[in-house]
Amino acid sequence: MEKGLTLVKNVKWSENLFDLTIDQATGLIVRIETAGTDADLASVVIADRVTSVFDAGGLHYIPPMADMHTHLDKHFIGEPWKSLQPFVTLPGQLEFEKSMLGELPTGAGERAKRMLDLMLAQGTTAIRTHVDVDPQIGLSHLEEVLEVREMYQGRIDIEIVAFPQQGLLRSDSVSVMRQALRAGANYVGGVDPAGLDRRVDASLEAMFELATEFSAGIDLHLHDPSHLGIYTISRFAELTEQAGMSGRNAVSHAYCLGQVGETEVRSLAERLCATGVAIMTSVPIDRPMPPIKLLLETGVSVHIGSDNILDSWSPFGNGDMLSRGSRLAEASGWVEDFWLLETYKLISNASLTPKVGERGTFSLVNAINAMHALAAAPPREAVFSGGVLVGGRMFPNSRQMAAIHS
Ligand SMILES: [Zn+2]
Repeated sequence: MEKGLTLVKNVKWSENLFDLTIDQATGLIVRIETAGTDADLASVVIADRVTSVFDAGGLHYIPPMADMHTHLDKHFIGEPWKSLQPFVTLPGQLEFEKSMLGELPTGAGERAKRMLDLMLAQGTTAIRTHVDVDPQIGLSHLEEVLEVREMYQGRIDIEIVAFPQQGLLRSDSVSVMRQALRAGANYVGGVDPAGLDRRVDASLEAMFELATEFSAGIDLHLHDPSHLGIYTISRFAELTEQAGMSGRNAVSHAYCLGQVGETEVRSLAERLCATGVAIMTSVPIDRPMPPIKLLLETGVSVHIGSDNILDSWSPFGNGDMLSRGSRLAEASGWVEDFWLLETYKLISNASLTPKVGERGTFSLVNAINAMHALAAAPPREAVFSGGVLVGGRMFPNSRQMAAIHS
């Protein structure tokens, strides 16, 4: 089918209404005009190419969401309810998770698609997913997620971290990690160099060796607490600097930053800023969270991810990044307009208002303005990716999708 233009009329931002025209062939915004003034002229000029017209009726523009920490291969979305047990020890939890995943009738690929549909429906069009690899499961999860990434190309950008969930050294996973990076994973993962691998320096060095060999960035899961975690992060920053990997590495969770004194955190934050190491947080409310405001004021790059969504670790989570941003702002006491707007930088890679030449990828919500949208996290009425309606309550299949995910 020949691709034409999408005209989305009466979209609100900066307290005004605009008409947006997107070229479906390139997915780029080709024209932005004040709504109404040139409406007739616009329809005459582009009439021969308009294939779909959408009247937003004053719904507010919000930028596309980015979910920077997910696990496409480990959730139970679309499966019968699974009863969980409280977390006791990490090795015990890993065994519990493995047995639950082993009993699932559906493969990682099918479940990855279910989660991606849920995310798209809520306006998320860029994600970073960690995908389990270990000597037992090999690349079985990864190969399926790589296939799904191809299928969703153009709708959602997917970065893949090869993730040795059982411990890089503990489970003897260096060799399978090498295979994963060769197969197409973009990042080297790792988890608790102290708590799980029990050899902080050796574990970190193994990650950096893999990263150097494949010119890949690193994203480390770090739950190790307090000073143990602080030491690990400072070594991670040091190795990042030595390897010349500024801007490519991240530490996920980093709860330890919320467990030590402010002076210590500030000094480490300055190191993170200088060495270009980002922090990924899922905005936990059941344990200390890294002091996000301090990190941002020091210049550290911070991103938010959903992490667990209905899996063996947690029954909570729904993949809604606007809600996740709202949770951060509320938990941090960010009531001022400035901080409500700053929060968007943690859940989106795009600016708050669209520009000609950018991708026509955004959501529409019922809100007074961008601050209100962040605070209230209203349902997505429509989600466009490259000018194509892909989700939201006005999306034809959304009713069906809601049934699957409820
Ligand atoms: Zn995770």
